[in-house]
Amino acid sequence: MFLTISTTGTAGSPATDLGFLLHKHPDKAQRFSTSHGTAHVLYPEAGAERCTAALLLEIDPVALVRRAKDKNRGGAPDSALAQYVNDRPYAASSLLAVAIGNVFSTALKGQCAARPELPGAARPLRIEVPVLPARGGAALVERLFAPLGWTVVAEPIALDETFPQWGDSRYVRLVLEGEQRLADALRHLYVLLPVLDDAKHYWVAPDEVEKLLRAGEGWLESHPEQRLIAGRYLGRRWSLTRDALERLALARLAESDDTEAEALDNAVDEETDTEERPVPLAVQRRAAILDALRAAGAARVLDLGCGQGQLVGELLKDPRFTEVAGTDVSPRALAVAARRLRLDRMTERQAARVRLFQGSLAYTDRRLAGYDAAVLSEVIEHLDLPRLPALEHAVFGAARPATVVVTTPNVEYNVRWETLPAGHVRHSDHRFEWTREEFRTWAAEVADRYGYEVAYVPVGPDDPEVGPPTQMGVFTRKEKESEQEKAA
Ligand code: SAH
Repeated sequence: MFLTISTTGTAGSPATDLGFLLHKHPDKAQRFSTSHGTAHVLYPEAGAERCTAALLLEIDPVALVRRAKDKNRGGAPDSALAQYVNDRPYAASSLLAVAIGNVFSTALKGQCAARPELPGAARPLRIEVPVLPARGGAALVERLFAPLGWTVVAEPIALDETFPQWGDSRYVRLVLEGEQRLADALRHLYVLLPVLDDAKHYWVAPDEVEKLLRAGEGWLESHPEQRLIAGRYLGRRWSLTRDALERLALARLAESDDTEAEALDNAVDEETDTEERPVPLAVQRRAAILDALRAAGAARVLDLGCGQGQLVGELLKDPRFTEVAGTDVSPRALAVAARRLRLDRMTERQAARVRLFQGSLAYTDRRLAGYDAAVLSEVIEHLDLPRLPALEHAVFGAARPATVVVTTPNVEYNVRWETLPAGHVRHSDHRFEWTREEFRTWAAEVADRYGYEVAYVPVGPDDPEVGPPTQMGVFTRKEKESEQEKAA
């Protein structure tokens, strides 16, 4: 992956002054080792008229994966080939931004001890990034760079030039031209390359807010796409994004007549901010489960491993669910659920619809019998694999509701999780996370053994390569179907 920065000579400043500005001598090719490979700085041309510096980053993909694993020793072993076969070595990404930060740190600060007058002056610059991953496409590239005074050329790159009918890839060739101070140009790239890539290679920690505000000083306060930039840069961690937006609003305030309250109101308008704050996965999951239960015509529903009772609460909102029970092995979770559902303040009629009780799914339990449907939402992965057959027997063998809805993480999707370090399971208590194939193999076997049929439903965005973040199996007892057939 690489980018080039070119300038032309101006009155009083030959193009080779670029070397002073970058703190890299035009006559030398230099190399720097970075955490994920080697960065090279070289000058394909260096004359008084035109001078071009290239930053070339050689990424070691194996080191990239190893580093992620070392950081998370004890995490799940990850066999996903996608970790090795990805675009990291070729495309300009957050790694290139980190290299800019390392290799050009003095230039980024706008300092030049040898020629202190140089950094403060804008000069004609041309920046080219031949392969830039751009989620949001060429239009978003334009929306991000044009307000900063750049003339933007963003050409979509075809997936395969031999097969134009396949359409465009998510990459563009980017050329920026404008009169800019070099430090500003570097700071624009430092922030906006990872924003366009939208897949950080590292864990987004709270100090990223400081980095964003420092690199964004002087331009991000008034950028029209400020929310999108902050949201993506901070890995869509909403608390960090809110913090950044509030501080940007206060910085803008120093230059306007707004009151502080107005500035903060404008900064974080939760109602309208939907694009960068998608519906949380847990909410999508509950909606998918409710849909499946309604489609099955269930009225008496059992939530197994109900945790803090969020799904129980949703079920109670719909009168078609006449009886709702939640059970969990953890008394503490049940206590939270009881408080959250305000069991103590319910009318008698309402209270008659709901029941919470403690128990373990590793044992058959008569209290689980007699329901139309049972839900196992994000529960099976909390059991050690050798205990799983006991749960299968307790639910599918002994309780035998007509419908069983099972959800579990799809481990293949973990590579798409911006805030999840590579090779890491999503929750420290997960004993395993399955690929789609592993889940389907398990589900088909259980269905076969206990006389159910199973259908698979994706929950969350169904990625063409790695599938959806949550996988759901809806089991239907076969006898029920024949009973219905008889009734029909
Ligand atoms: N169903 C909820 C909670 C999932 S977290 C949701 O979708 O958000 C997993 C829950 O399973 C925890 O509350 C945990 O206490 C419970 N659990 C784990 N092992 C269990 C077992 N053997 N029997 C019953 N519940 C169990």
